[in-house]
Amino acid sequence: MNIEHHPCFNAKMRGKYGRVHLPVAPRCNIQCNYCDRKYDCVNESRPGVTSAVLTPHQAMAYLEYVLEEVKNISVVGIAGPGDPFANPDETMETLRLTRKRYPEMILCLATNGLGIGPYIDELAELNVSHVTITLNAIDSEIGSQLYAFVRHGKKVLGPRAGFDVLLEKQLEAIIRLKEKNVTTKVNTIIVPGVNETHIESVAEKMADLRVDILNCIPFYPNAGAKFANLEEPSKEVVTAIRKKAARHIPQMYHCKRCRADAVGIMGQENGCAVNEKLQECAQ
Ligand code: SF4
Ligand code: SF4
Repeated sequence: MNIEHHPCFNAKMRGKYGRVHLPVAPRCNIQCNYCDRKYDCVNESRPGVTSAVLTPHQAMAYLEYVLEEVKNISVVGIAGPGDPFANPDETMETLRLTRKRYPEMILCLATNGLGIGPYIDELAELNVSHVTITLNAIDSEIGSQLYAFVRHGKKVLGPRAGFDVLLEKQLEAIIRLKEKNVTTKVNTIIVPGVNETHIESVAEKMADLRVDILNCIPFYPNAGAKFANLEEPSKEVVTAIRKKAARHIPQMYHCKRCRADAVGIMGQENGCAVNEKLQECAQ
């Protein structure tokens, strides 16, 4: 599969090729104030949500089914429902098994970037060609409002110290991914009243680091999250922010805020049979 066939990184491919997310990473190593992973509903489409969590071997059985039943899957991704590198054994084993069995498949993952560092060499060897890092701020004052804690080694760090470590690891990871020629996307959540006036600075910094594309994602209120009472930014606000960011770095405009168990062409999610199979494989 040509790496140009990735529907998330290449808008021209979004109606032609699909992706499958393997939900093998349930735990997370940080707490974003906009995230709540308690809710688990097939009708809810947002990151952090999955109908089941799979072991790497269960994920292979599920993947085999999906590739037979759903046409034109070009990408296998890992995007939670927690963070792939809060579950590094499961994540790496799933990628190894997938690469062995499907040598042509595009491999992709989405992470907060805190724990990816030690795995970058092996990710490059496995030809994981696309990585997304969610990076919401490059300023401690702003960043410390976005996270409740960051688990670093055996320590649980509060918002300020936690953000500083998170940012350091994210920036290191981006530099190393680019050294390895991994196509790197940064997702930045636009959080009203917190980082909405800061996104252009993030865009500038990401351009300096040779990030390939920036995906400015409007904050989505989650009932159980600390930021549950903030409002989703309007289309006009999002458009204006993207326009400013686009002065510095290419923008992604077609993100669908995919679930951790998303399957198929973006925006045309597959129905019950695939979801039932996912739950069956998890037993
Ligand atoms: Fe990769 Fe994100 Fe697209 Fe999934 S939705 S395939 S993790 S870029
Ligand atoms: Fe939720 Fe992802 Fe943040 Fe973890 S990194 S708290 S899963 S949004």
